[in-house]
Amino acid sequence: MEKLAINGGSPSRDITAQPWPKWPVWGKEEEAALIEVLHSGVWSYNGPKEIEFNRLFAEFTGVKHAICTVNGTITLQIALEALGIGIGDEVIIPGLTWQATAATVIDVNATPILADVSEDNWCIDPKEIEKAITPKTKAIIPVHLYGAFADMDAIMDIAKKHNLYVIEDCAHKHGGEWNGKKAGSIGDIGSFSYQLSKHLTAGEGGSVTTNNSDLADKLDALRNCGRRPEADTLDEVDKGAGDYGDDDGNFIQSGNLRITEFQAAILVEGLKRLPAQNAIRDANGDYLNALLSKIPGISPITRDKRETKKAYFNFAFKYCENEFKGLPIKKFRSALEAELGVVVDASYEPLNNCSLYVPHTKPSRHKLNDAYWKAIDPKRFSLPVCTRIFEEQSVCIHHKVLMGTEADMNLIAQAIQKIYDNAQALF
Ligand SMILES: *Cc1c(COP(=O)(O)O)cnc(C)c1O
Repeated sequence: MEKLAINGGSPSRDITAQPWPKWPVWGKEEEAALIEVLHSGVWSYNGPKEIEFNRLFAEFTGVKHAICTVNGTITLQIALEALGIGIGDEVIIPGLTWQATAATVIDVNATPILADVSEDNWCIDPKEIEKAITPKTKAIIPVHLYGAFADMDAIMDIAKKHNLYVIEDCAHKHGGEWNGKKAGSIGDIGSFSYQLSKHLTAGEGGSVTTNNSDLADKLDALRNCGRRPEADTLDEVDKGAGDYGDDDGNFIQSGNLRITEFQAAILVEGLKRLPAQNAIRDANGDYLNALLSKIPGISPITRDKRETKKAYFNFAFKYCENEFKGLPIKKFRSALEAELGVVVDASYEPLNNCSLYVPHTKPSRHKLNDAYWKAIDPKRFSLPVCTRIFEEQSVCIHHKVLMGTEADMNLIAQAIQKIYDNAQALF
């Protein structure tokens, strides 16, 4: 019997001698780009790095327009605003996601409708979307959670049938591809985050992507105090369309949601690194999943055959206590953390019981009226699958472990096997 690291045995990985790959990744290119911006004195406001990054990210995502802004929360908010979603509207979102997906819906005075997810890939379940549709439904926000892909064929079919907008929350999916189409190019608007934890990062930041020039025009205005862009900087401005702007269509109410040139400079360099990094993560993710599927009680997140590029994010897998000798999941996670020397987490908390999604703590903003107050109570939604994933099933590890070698993947699988073999020592 080997002694488990959590019980004082030697860990599967000695992280002093053999640290995991570092995140974020940067080099001389980032240093030079930052100095260039510093010396230029152009530190913000539609600068050359921002314009270049928008062009490169649009190209990368296969859309006509990409617009960067302060973060991946604001991207969701301006996407909703650009689509005219607000008071009286319902937006269907998955119950298992980062709180921003829900918080932005109430921040535009609309009602988030929490739908349960699929046990296979932890993304919103199309059958649950259909059940949640009412005459008030205006949009769906699928989240491609932990690098899995929401079923975009089913979601786009539902949207078409019911005349709904689709905003893809791609905060975990930079570069993923569904049937040859990039995440963020399938719905009406894509939303990306460049927060430090994401696989393209500038510390903070975000982009919206769209093929619709009228939407791009509104999104651009919304991130820039409502200023309408010059007609010649975007595709034709369709001045008659939409219910925004003043009488001559020049302005829209908003605020300063602009990114800095320093962030844009880092993003230009990071985007050059992303395809190779995605290729490594995908190869390692597939390899590790194949190893894990041989261990009792462990199973991979289902990856859809229509995913032509996977873009693994944080490495998530499913745990089954009964098949793992009855070892409670919390003990499993702590034991794995001790073996590997990385944080091993549960999934996000389901939004009907999430410490950071608590709209009732802010009546001054969200109590528009009694009916709305009731409608935004997260507790009114039942999310059995989300709850099961969070409480019984989910094991999530930072994506930096996927930047290692095949030997590193063997080591992760061996560490899990070691815990299985020695599970009785944890009771
Ligand atoms: C990170 C994240 C966001 C928000 O992005 P920020 O840049 O942190 O504001 C939105 N949705 C999901 C699913 C995320 O993981």
